[in-house]
Parts: sequence; structure tokens; C-alpha cells
Amino acid sequence: MITIHDKEFAPFLTSEEISKRIKALAWKINADYAGKRPLVLGILNGSFIFAADLFRELAVEAEISFIKLASYKGTTTTGNVITAIGLEETLTDRHIIIVEDIIDTGKTLSTFLPQLTRQQPASIKIATFLTKPTALKYDVKADYTAFEIEDKFVVGYGLDYDGLGRNLPDLYILK
Ligand code: 5GP
Ligand code: MG
Repeated sequence: MITIHDKEFAPFLTSEEISKRIKALAWKINADYAGKRPLVLGILNGSFIFAADLFRELAVEAEISFIKLASYKGTTTTGNVITAIGLEETLTDRHIIIVEDIIDTGKTLSTFLPQLTRQQPASIKIATFLTKPTALKYDVKADYTAFEIEDKFVVGYGLDYDGLGRNLPDLYILK
């Protein structure tokens, strides 16, 4: 058990289990994107570790870039996602792979995807470290998912609880 701020978290997935799943995802992506030179687009902050690990396993020619989604929201996922900060690449005619830490309600991606579509990329797919199928409220479907989990709060492997816990190599779940 570990404590972050005021809350206790229990071990949930080890870095070995995570690493094994990422290799399997990368294998699929390698098969799907041979010769296409995809642009991997990591959504900061939560995806930075997953994106780095996944990207290292890619054997196809690929580029990577990161963006931050600015919104009015506080700590919950209820707020409005508005703009992408830091997107310098032209997405037109590119094969885009969005990399997210977690799809919870799906609001973030369902708001953001239409903005990307406007730039007319050749294709857009979503790779996510986690999904919470029972929490999904918007029409978003990941193409590559490392783990489906129950609707509970998790930290570690890039995901934070109020700023802390991102550096934990394993994933932990709220008690
Ligand atoms: P959505 O827009 O899909 O509801 O929310 C996605 C975002 O909410 C994630 O990118 C993440 O920042 C945050 N989030 C949702 N569930 C969790 C969770 O269990 N743990 C952490 N640390 N963040 C979460
Ligand atoms: Mg996020």
C-alpha cells in the first residue's frame, strides 16, 4: 500500500505487466503502419511515459510530437476542453496516432478530435494506456488499448493524483 496526499492506493499493475502489453500494442501498430510514417501525438501531461515506452517499441518510421489541451476545468473531467497548445506540425495528409493516458468519460477526446479532423489528416487512430468502459459517456473508441479497467481512480505510470504519483513505475488503484 502507498499513500499520496491523503489517500491510500493499492498495487494494481506492475511495470512488467505494463511493458508486456505495450510490446503487444506496438506489434499491432508496426503491422498497421508499415510504410506510412505515422505522427504520434501524445497528450500531455498524463501520456508522456506511455508515449515514450510505446514509441521506443515502434519499428516503423515514425515521428512524435506532444500537445497540451487547455481547458477551464479543475481536477475533475467535467470541464470544457478548448484548445491544443504546442501543435506545430501540419496534420494534413498525415497518419495520426493520438496517445492518451486514459479514456474516462471520453469527453476530452470527443471534444478534441473534431478539431484535428478539420486539418484533414489521412487517418486518425487512438492509442490509450487505459480505458474505463463503464465510465464512458461520449462516442469515443480507442483503436489500441493496453488495459481496460474498472471505474476507479488510478495513479502511477504518468498518471497523477493532484500532481503527485506520475513517477511511480507501477500503476496503483484507489482503496
Ligand atoms: P475524459 O475526458 O475521458 O473523461 O478524461 C480523461 C482525463 O481525465 C485523463 O486524461 C486524465 O487526465 C483524467 N483521469 C480520468 N480518470 C483518471 C484516473 O483514474 N486517474 C488519473 N490520474 N486521471 C484520470
Ligand atoms: Mg490526460
